Amino acid sequence: MSDSIFEKIINRQIPADIVFESEDIIAFRDIAPQAPVHVLFVPKHRFDTLNDVPDSEALMLGRLMLAAQAYAKSIGIADDGYRVVMNCNRHGGQTVFHIHMHLLGGAPLTGGFA
Ligand code: 5GP
Repeated sequence: MSDSIFEKIINRQIPADIVFESEDIIAFRDIAPQAPVHVLFVPKHRFDTLNDVPDSEALMLGRLMLAAQAYAKSIGIADDGYRVVMNCNRHGGQTVFHIHMHLLGGAPLTGGFA
């Protein structure tokens, strides 16, 4: 299986605007932002889709959400609010098959990206 675009970012083979990194998670700005704040939180270990994540990775999924929460607080958008989204497969609109959670905020989010 060839590397996902996000594995190339994790391995520093292609550039990204990285805003957070821990042992198992990396977060970087989306290349095509759909809100003033649009950051992707990505587990370093690749699962292609949410369907592929086993029960044993529940902690990782929780960490992904808490990393987004901490980042939202750190940049001052938490009180106004934000949205977290994980798309799965075709009907979910997933385009990169390495699971990732979108954090969107910085302005009222109306319609569109759900
Ligand atoms: P999905 O549609 O799979 O939920 O979201 C994939 C996201 O990855 C899209 O919002 C897209 O703009 C973003 N993306 C795709 N390729 C790159 C890239 O090379 N760098 C960054 N920073 N974001 C990317």
